[in-house]
Amino acid sequence: MSRPDAREEAPPIEVRESPLHGLGVFATARIARGRRIVEYRGERISHAEADRRYDHKEPGDNHTFLFTVDAHTVIDAGVDGNEARFVNHSCEPNCESVIEAGRVFIDAIRIIVPGEELTYDYQIQRAADDPPDIDQVFACRCGRERCRGTMLWPPRPPPPRSRERRARGR
Ligand SMILES: [Zn+2]
Repeated sequence: MSRPDAREEAPPIEVRESPLHGLGVFATARIARGRRIVEYRGERISHAEADRRYDHKEPGDNHTFLFTVDAHTVIDAGVDGNEARFVNHSCEPNCESVIEAGRVFIDAIRIIVPGEELTYDYQIQRAADDPPDIDQVFACRCGRERCRGTMLWPPRPPPPRSRERRARGR
């Protein structure tokens, strides 16, 4: 199988220990604003398969490398993933994740200087079946001035629907 972006030059990045969390991805050269840095690669699986693989992990273990592409597809970068899986979350990031034709890319949203850590806002979507400790599991400690304290989106859980209201549902 040919790699669609084999012609592109290797991105100026390296993986090493991060002050934010575990391993991180750092610029080894200046990166222009708007540059497409790296594709988020991995095995493409269904949501059901992602649940099957990771729902039984230890509570508090959020070190999976899943990226939700759409309602059908999740990329599991734990299988055949590349450097992109190590890009950490920040509430004031210098990159963004862009989904195009079912593929996911990490693009720079401002100039990134050599040595700077690459980050994007994970915006992990809340789900109805989230465990009660979800906010602890995905707590953010990015330390930025505008840190919202969570990698989840929206930042606060929606107010629980009252029993009465639920009972009236169809
Ligand atoms: Zn933060």
